[in-house]
Amino acid sequence: MTKNINIAHGNGGEENNDLIRSIFYKHFENDILAKSEDAAVIENGKLAFTTDSFTVSPLFFPGGDIGKLAVCGTCNDLAMMGAKPKYLTCSVIIEEGFSSYELEKIVRSMKKELELNGAMVVSGDTKVVPKGSVDKLFINTTGIGEIEYGGISAHALKEGASILVSRDVGSHGAAIFAAREGIELETSLKTDCASLYPEVRALMDAGIDIAAMRDATRGGVAAVLNEWAKSSDVCIEIEEEKIPVQEEVKGICEMLGFEAVNLANEGTFVLAVAGSDKERALEVLQKTHTSSTIIGTVTDLHRGRVILNSSWGTKRFLDLPSGELLPRIC
Ligand code: MG
Repeated sequence: MTKNINIAHGNGGEENNDLIRSIFYKHFENDILAKSEDAAVIENGKLAFTTDSFTVSPLFFPGGDIGKLAVCGTCNDLAMMGAKPKYLTCSVIIEEGFSSYELEKIVRSMKKELELNGAMVVSGDTKVVPKGSVDKLFINTTGIGEIEYGGISAHALKEGASILVSRDVGSHGAAIFAAREGIELETSLKTDCASLYPEVRALMDAGIDIAAMRDATRGGVAAVLNEWAKSSDVCIEIEEEKIPVQEEVKGICEMLGFEAVNLANEGTFVLAVAGSDKERALEVLQKTHTSSTIIGTVTDLHRGRVILNSSWGTKRFLDLPSGELLPRIC
């Protein structure tokens, strides 16, 4: 660890993992935490439990706001463990002088998203700090969900499994960047921010054999795939041209020198299913997003690594993102 924390330590990639392991995991060490899943599985596999803080800037952006994000973020981490989101807490840290009209607008959008999940806020906390102590508003939500599909885990990927993405990738990171920098786009690029429980429910109802699910938030699809390859000690081979990316997102990536697979999403998930179920899983996902695709397969070519196969027949490693990615996107 470096002497002081820097922006890269919050990137959802390599430096973020270093920070978590060298300070938090070291002192909080226990078997549940060590699994490093999207949500902790507790009470003999009955409940999923997770927390997330939201610091996004700007607070309002095309397709969402910090309130919608705060409910989606936590509910999605529960849904990714096969759990039905049920009870949330909501803690806010408000900067003195913040508009109560905007605060109510944010809380209203939280309510709307809670209803979509069939969840409710049952406890909360409010702090107001002097001007300059926080930038406008930060929100923390913690959630409990009831596990409806057990055994989903980053450690459960096996050779022959198929990897899918639920829709095109990178739109949240790109939309926040555009909103923050005031970039006028010819078309209306929006965040993908959405509640994923309904899609997960549809996959469960269809009887899909699910090994792992993870929403591709900070660090994007690249972070999810690398964490899975390591946790399950498998190789994940991805067909680069199969990864769906919107044209506007490609444009922003060129401007920033980023890859869409490293950009954050807030309503896009990666799914590992039994190879024999891939077409059926795709059919279910495409009912919500036609951009959903099968992007790859689990193999034993290079355990612990992710390989990108290009349409030219070349191969390269896709690494865990590192460096200063976009801060305050969630
Ligand atoms: Mg997650």
